[in-house]
Amino acid sequence: MTAQAAIDTDRFKSLASTFSGVLLRPGDDGYEDARRIHNGLIDKRPALIARCRGTADIADAIAFARESGLEISVRGGGHNVAGRAVTDGGAMIDLSLMKGIHVDPGARTVRVQGGVTWREFNRETALHGLATTGGVVSTTGVAGLTLGGGLGWLLGKHGLSVDNLISVELVTAAGDVLNVTADERPDLFWALRGGGGNFGVASSFAFRAHPLRQVYGGLVAHPLAAAADVLRFYRDFTGAVPDELTVFAALAHAPDGSGTPVVALVVCHCGAPEQAAKDVRPLLEFGTPVLVQVGPMPYPVMNTILDEGFPRGALNYWKSSFMKALDDDAIGTMIDRFAACPSMMTNIVLEHFHGAVTRVAVTDTAVPHREAGYNFLVASVWADPGTTDENIAWTRATYAAQEPFLARKRYVNYLDDDEPRDAIPNAYGSNYARLAEIKRRYDPGNLFRLNQNIEPPRA
Ligand SMILES: Cc1cc2nc3c(=O)[nH]c(=O)nc-3n(C[C@H](O)[C@H](O)[C@H](O)COP(=O)(O)OP(=O)(O)OC[C@H]3O[C@@H](n4cnc5c(N)ncnc54)[C@H](O)[C@@H]3O)c2cc1C
Repeated sequence: MTAQAAIDTDRFKSLASTFSGVLLRPGDDGYEDARRIHNGLIDKRPALIARCRGTADIADAIAFARESGLEISVRGGGHNVAGRAVTDGGAMIDLSLMKGIHVDPGARTVRVQGGVTWREFNRETALHGLATTGGVVSTTGVAGLTLGGGLGWLLGKHGLSVDNLISVELVTAAGDVLNVTADERPDLFWALRGGGGNFGVASSFAFRAHPLRQVYGGLVAHPLAAAADVLRFYRDFTGAVPDELTVFAALAHAPDGSGTPVVALVVCHCGAPEQAAKDVRPLLEFGTPVLVQVGPMPYPVMNTILDEGFPRGALNYWKSSFMKALDDDAIGTMIDRFAACPSMMTNIVLEHFHGAVTRVAVTDTAVPHREAGYNFLVASVWADPGTTDENIAWTRATYAAQEPFLARKRYVNYLDDDEPRDAIPNAYGSNYARLAEIKRRYDPGNLFRLNQNIEPPRA
């Protein structure tokens, strides 16, 4: 199969005669916008963009690409920094028009189609006072984030997004439409909870949701000069937080446009208001912050407070890994590296894993990262294409400096496009062999390979 196979006119006409979405080829109105994704570094030109409106469109687009010998890419929210949602010369199966959301308040479940973002999801669930774990930036897609695991503000109380998944409607490489649940296809359901886009195209997802209206959350920022003290305090404080309280730390730049480097603690407490105020108080009382913006807010608002830092079309290059431990040397190294950061839009982030996420066994889902601790993320973001080389070089050097403190455990959703060969095995650990075997059963020809690819073993 080549990415560049020519499109047969009769086959295309046959697809177009029943397709209910939009088919775009180079030169068509809307093509240029549709091929763009969140990461402005990605500049690929699909031979066909199939903007699906439903499951039948997805099935037809897969069949068309397979029969035409076109490489397939799948776009949910388009946020993946590695840019695997777009193919050069192949067929991009674009789900971003598929926005259906149905909340069942009695059953506390939510079914969403594959193009829904967390902002859209939260808006509908909030009408019923419900929420589930989603990403911390509201423009991220439900589909890709969930298929790779899904970490967010509610992970301590409700686990990862995959821990709340009830079912997936999946269109396979063979064109079968499967309802995948813990009872109907347990192996495949296990694999979909973390195994990414390897097993087919997910047209819809159903989640469990939980009663939640308000959270107690926001931001505390200290001057960078206090970073070592603040991060040590953060480590000790998060060592004993209740499930309801999740706190991420970031070396960042003040959001007021001044570019002042700061160390920020981003806080979300999803428990009762009096308890939340009590649990969060030590964070507010520590040191001499330059900014304290913490208080009650609707959960959907909490989900947007970092959005401005990640504008669509900005240039992104990320490196991340779970840490062995957040010891003083690791803290010192990240502060030293941040001092030389070339972009005011870049953050070094620590994401705290604790509570419900750690009470799921390693083999219960495909996501093996179930230990309490921290994920270290260098999220490099910049606007000027002339500084791309400098920003990428700084990111690589910063990650390399941190390597002595990193575990060989990677979060698959943060992998970039140039990772070493062991990155995907390290993302799945002891679950990799089982995933490869399930891949062999559902996609033996590796039709879905433009992803964080799990290669099917040869028979
Ligand atoms: C600004 C920003 C913030 C983020 N915050 C978080 C966060 O808080 N928590 C977190 O866990 N991750 C986060 N991520 C990472 C995010 O989970 C991944 O980038 C994820 O891949 C995004 O999913 P998407 O649908 O938006 O992306 P896409 O780029 O559309 O998809 C990514 C990949 O997923 C697969 N895929 C997507 N949709 C489908 C589908 N319907 N069926 C089959 N395969 C599909 C494809 O292989 C595709 O290449 C963030 C990323 C960014 C850029």
